[in-house]
Amino acid sequence: MADPVIVGAGPAGIAAAEVLCAAGLRPILIDEGARAGGQGYRRPAESLALDMARLMGSEARKYAALHRRFEALLPRIDYRPGTLVWAIDGDTLHLLRDGRAETLCFDRLLIASGAMDRIAPLPGWTLPGVFTLGGAQVALKDQGCLIGSRVAFLGSSPLLALAAKQYREMGAEIAVIADTTALRAKAAALPALLHAPRTLARGLWYMAASLRAGTKMLHGAVPVAIEGSERVEALLLHDARGRERRFACDAVALGYGLKPETQLADLAGATFVYDADFRLFLPKIDGMGRARPGLYLAGDGVRIGGADAAEASGALAAHAILSDLGRPAEIAVTRRLARRVQRLRDFQRGLARAFAWPRAQIAALGDAVTLCRCENVTVGAVRASMARDLGPAEVNRVKAITRCGMGRCQGRVCGPALQELVAAECGGDGLAAGRLRGQAPVKPIALAAAMDGS
Ligand SMILES: Cc1cc2nc3c(=O)[nH]c(=O)nc-3n(C[C@H](O)[C@H](O)[C@H](O)COP(=O)(O)OP(=O)(O)OC[C@H]3O[C@@H](n4cnc5c(N)ncnc54)[C@H](O)[C@@H]3O)c2cc1C
Repeated sequence: MADPVIVGAGPAGIAAAEVLCAAGLRPILIDEGARAGGQGYRRPAESLALDMARLMGSEARKYAALHRRFEALLPRIDYRPGTLVWAIDGDTLHLLRDGRAETLCFDRLLIASGAMDRIAPLPGWTLPGVFTLGGAQVALKDQGCLIGSRVAFLGSSPLLALAAKQYREMGAEIAVIADTTALRAKAAALPALLHAPRTLARGLWYMAASLRAGTKMLHGAVPVAIEGSERVEALLLHDARGRERRFACDAVALGYGLKPETQLADLAGATFVYDADFRLFLPKIDGMGRARPGLYLAGDGVRIGGADAAEASGALAAHAILSDLGRPAEIAVTRRLARRVQRLRDFQRGLARAFAWPRAQIAALGDAVTLCRCENVTVGAVRASMARDLGPAEVNRVKAITRCGMGRCQGRVCGPALQELVAAECGGDGLAAGRLRGQAPVKPIALAAAMDGS
C-alpha cells in the first residue's frame, strides 16, 4: 500500500498529517510554497525579521503554535515543499519541483489546496496599484511590503477591516474602507454569525478599531471606477445615499471574500453541486470529506470555513482515510470534529450573506470593462458571444468562443465574474450558467516541463 498523499501544507493538511502520523503512517505532504503554514498562517522568511506579534496581534500565538506542530511532525512525514501539483491523471499526480517534472502515484489522496480571492471587476481594476485583498496581505505578511502609502480597501469581506488594521499598524494611511454590502444585510445575517461568537466579536473589534483610528468606513457603497492615468490615483464610488465620493489613494486592495481552489478536486474526479449562498459550484463530499473512493477533500479548498474549520476538517478527512484502511473508528473524536466543522462552516455561510458577492454590480458592468485580463477579453465581448445564435449560453461555450478564462490563470481570477455575467443572461440563474471546468495545468508552468512529464 502506498503512503497517503496530502496536497497543501496549510492548517488542514498539517492537521491531517498529524492524525495519520499518530496512527503510524508516513504521509507525503506536498506544497508549492517554500515554507509550511498555508495562506492565512503564512510563515515569512526568517531573514525578514518581521514583527508578526505586532502584525497579527493575538492571532500570532495561533500562527506560532501551528508552525511548532509542523516542526514536530517533520521527522515523521515525507515533506516536499516547492512542489506544484499541476495535473492529476487517474491515480497519478503530475508535479513540478525545482523546474523538473515528476509523477507520483497514489492510492489515497487528500487535497487541502485552500482558497483564493474572489474578484469583481470594475473600470480601472487593471491599473498598476490594484491588488487583491489577499495579495495585499501576502505582500505584508510574506514580504514585509505595503502595496502603497495611502491605500483604499474596496469590496465586501470581513478581511477588509482586518487588512486595513494591519496596514495602518505598519504605517500606511487608509483612504477608505468601502464595503459594498449594506448594513441592514449585515444585521440580517447576525443569527448565522452567532455560530462563532468569538470570531464575530473579533470582526466587530476590527471594525471598531478602524472607526477609533478615524478611518472612513462606508457600507452599501457602489463602486464606480478606479481612476488614474498611469497607475492608481483615486477610487470613485457612490455612498449608500447615492452621493458621489472620490478618495485619493495610490493603491487599492480589492476583494469579495474567498473561493475554494477546486481545480485539483475537479481533475481528480470529484462531482460538483451548485451552492446558492456562495453562488459557486462546490465539490460534493460526505460528512467526513470523502469525494469518491480514495479521494478526500478538506479545508477552505472544499468549503470556505476559516483556519479553525480547516484544521478540524483536515483531521476529519484523515480519520476517514484510516477508517477506509480498516483501522478502528474513533467515533467520539470524529463526531466532535464533524460538529465543529459544521458550526464553523455555518458561520461562513452567514458571512457570505453579511459580505455579499456583488452579482447586481457585475450584471451592470459596462461593455468596455476588461473581464479577463490574461486574454484581454471585455464584458462586451462576452455579452456579444452570448447574443450569437450558437446554442444555449453556458460558461464553457462562452470561454471557447471568447477565450475568457483560457489564459494564464485558467479562469481562477475571472471565472466567478464570467459565471455571473452568463447567469445574468440566463435570467440570474447561477446554476443554468454552468460550471467552468478545471483544466491542467492548474497554474502556469513552462511548456518544456509539461512535455517532460507527458
Ligand atoms: C491570500 C489569503 C490571505 C488570507 N489571510 C487570512 C488572514 O489574515 N486571517 C485569517 O484568519 N484567514 C486568512 N485567510 C484564510 C485562511 O487562509 C484560511 O482559512 C486557512 O488558511 C485555510 O487553511 P487550508 O489549510 O484549507 O488552506 P491554506 O492555508 O490556503 O493552505 C493551502 C496550501 O495548499 C497549497 N497548494 C494549493 N494548490 C497547490 C498545488 N496545486 N500544488 C501544491 N500545493 C498547493 C498552497 O501553497 C497552500 O500552502 C487568507 C486566505 C487567503 C487566500
